[in-house]
Amino acid sequence: MFNSLRNAFCRDLAIDLGTANTLVYSKGEGIVLSEPSVVAIVEDKYKQKVLAIGNEAKTMLGRTPGNIKAIQPLRDGVIADFRVAEDMIKHFMLKARNKSLFSPLVVICVPASATPVERRAIQEATELAGGRKVLIVEEPMAAAVGAGLPVQDPRGSMVVDIGGGTSDIAIISLGGIVHSKSIRVGGHFLDNSIIEYIKKKYNILIGSMTAEDIKMKIGGAKPPPAGKKSLSQFIKGRDLSSGIPCEIKITEADIVSALKDGVNQIVSGVKDVLEKTPPELASDVFERGIVVTGGGALLRNLDVVLTQATGVPVFVADDPLSCVIRGSGIILENIKNYESWLTQMY
Ligand code: ADP
Ligand code: MG
Repeated sequence: MFNSLRNAFCRDLAIDLGTANTLVYSKGEGIVLSEPSVVAIVEDKYKQKVLAIGNEAKTMLGRTPGNIKAIQPLRDGVIADFRVAEDMIKHFMLKARNKSLFSPLVVICVPASATPVERRAIQEATELAGGRKVLIVEEPMAAAVGAGLPVQDPRGSMVVDIGGGTSDIAIISLGGIVHSKSIRVGGHFLDNSIIEYIKKKYNILIGSMTAEDIKMKIGGAKPPPAGKKSLSQFIKGRDLSSGIPCEIKITEADIVSALKDGVNQIVSGVKDVLEKTPPELASDVFERGIVVTGGGALLRNLDVVLTQATGVPVFVADDPLSCVIRGSGIILENIKNYESWLTQMY
């Protein structure tokens, strides 16, 4: 009786707590929230106060006066600032729960490389934010389910999730991670490479939002083919010799050069995992290909570069930014089938 009442008034949730974006899935409803993992805080001598969270806070990144800070409470997929992370999760859970009376069960993702202490911190922050029971699932598993891979089969699948802070590469078989690796190259690293490149080549300083914007609009993992016109864009920055704001035209070829090192590191990571994969599973992967998820999967031609470097067909998942949350949602909806994947740290 209590359980059915509880089900009527309580919406259980799945959360993809990413370094760049947090997405929330509500049981029976679908994805109800997708916002940047950013919190703007006002500080005085004695205390901190939250000013804005999510979309509103992201627009403040790099634009704040001295006493306001825009914080990204996750770094490399794990909590870097516990209090702020807890506030952020609480805010997103409240926003997503929509009139729900009881505190929800929450399925939350952690990177496969997260240590027990880091997993515990994510579970604890989610409990303090209002989760009645918090179950942890490893992100590559959720990504694979979201991408529609047959993860329960005794066959190898390979998922590469390129997020804001890291790229996580995993081989999955029989519902478990056989081998995985996390490298600290993700979207933020690529944005910084663009900032450094433009500083070095043009002596102009640009902000991280501008860098991300050009990466998405004209960036790529490979130069445009000969004969095809290179994309270009005007960007605004500050001339470092005169200190004056200025505008320059940046080309696709510029951005491809800037991103080369990061792209190479992702390629090496993928090759490294393939080399360490047991031969039977590696042959499954060679046959069935590699699936790329996460926002970084949208970098133009990254799939082509990975295919050329590994000799394995590479596919970008449908809507790669929501792959992990879609998978987490499927796990939440069919929680009995996935019990063995879900853990609690204490
Ligand atoms: P996380 O799971 O770490 O929060 P996401 O999977 O949400 O990360 O991906 C966010 C990253 O994807 C950001 O660094 C963003 O710049 C990058 N990204 C989003 N769209 C594109 C695009 N079209 N091209 C390249 N990178 C992109
Ligand atoms: Mg992610």
